[in-house]
Amino acid sequence: MSKKKVIVVKVGSSLLANSDNLTLRFAFMNGLVSDLAQLQRDGHKVILTSSGSVALGLNMVKRRPEDAGILDKQAAAACGQPLLMNAYRQVASEYDLNVAQMLVTVEDMEDRRRFLNIKNTMLRLFENDIMPIINENDSVATRDLRVGDNDRLSAKVAQMVEADELIILTSVDGLYDRDPSDPGATFIHEIDDVSAHLDSTASVSELGSGGMLTKMHAANMAQNAGVETIIAEGIIERPVSSVLNKERRFTRCLVRGETASPLKVWLSNRLQVSGTLVVSADTAEGVVDKRRGISRMDILSLQGDFSKGDVLHVYTESGEEIARGLTNFSSEETILLARNADTPVEDVIGYKTKSDIIGAENILVLEDKHLPLEAPDEDQKIVTPA
Ligand code: GLU
Repeated sequence: MSKKKVIVVKVGSSLLANSDNLTLRFAFMNGLVSDLAQLQRDGHKVILTSSGSVALGLNMVKRRPEDAGILDKQAAAACGQPLLMNAYRQVASEYDLNVAQMLVTVEDMEDRRRFLNIKNTMLRLFENDIMPIINENDSVATRDLRVGDNDRLSAKVAQMVEADELIILTSVDGLYDRDPSDPGATFIHEIDDVSAHLDSTASVSELGSGGMLTKMHAANMAQNAGVETIIAEGIIERPVSSVLNKERRFTRCLVRGETASPLKVWLSNRLQVSGTLVVSADTAEGVVDKRRGISRMDILSLQGDFSKGDVLHVYTESGEEIARGLTNFSSEETILLARNADTPVEDVIGYKTKSDIIGAENILVLEDKHLPLEAPDEDQKIVTPA
């Protein structure tokens, strides 16, 4: 293991909290942190995405995992997060490791400016040899605007820092072709096309919010970002270095094909839709074949209340998502521009600017390896001139 790597490690709630009394599994945290501290001393850059705030905070709000509603979980996260970080800080100080907390939401990760701010903060922490510990800010995220699970959050983090490895530690030793408790289940050592395994298992562990399915989603996002994902059991002794040194078995999800630019990778890994455009089949063909931008003449209808700089998802009339890109105009401006397609831009919106709604340089054309998103169920605004 001579090459210095950027490693994102994700640990789930069932590794950090005892399922019966919802208290910290100290032995696991101790083994993990001592291993990460050693990796950092060896010159690797390590980021930890840690769950556990909800599980560790449930006792304070007098709830069990099975009867906690969303508000209980948000309150539990507010109680449990300081407990979690306090424990990390104490254990880390035993190993001379400095740690920092970063709480993020899906909106932070999917807004270009905030995403870059988070990235810069993380890089500055690295320069100071401080290990960032990341979690979703569950207490402020609303129901529909959540990453939902730290598997996908960790994939977004791995993409952000262009990691070499994403290591997801969990309660099983990897992916099987069916339920691992089935006597005929076969272990899968290596996966090329993650999407072929998306249905493999949808079981959810009691404490965390993910299951193998969200790990596969995370691995798909990481694959698209040029990051290899390893799914391994969260053992107590050297849980990460034993994987990096191939001392035990795990499932490895390989990087596929060429990795696009950071902007295009960021566009490919999205969980929420802030706006959509619908275009004709001809336009769709042009965008896909010629990689051209989308002009106001191309738009048939749109959805959403979006601002300049938001990501728009582009659909055909039959509902197929073909591309995503950063918009140069707000939804109000886009409607005005499309309805007055023959009038110069500055006469419509009062200032002179680029006239494509989405410029060719800011478009990602979706390929098979990308998971398309469904357009939200809200009214389309028809914008074609009468
Ligand atoms: N953010 C949640 C927590 O800290 C966990 C989400 C997950 O495990 O995927 O408890």
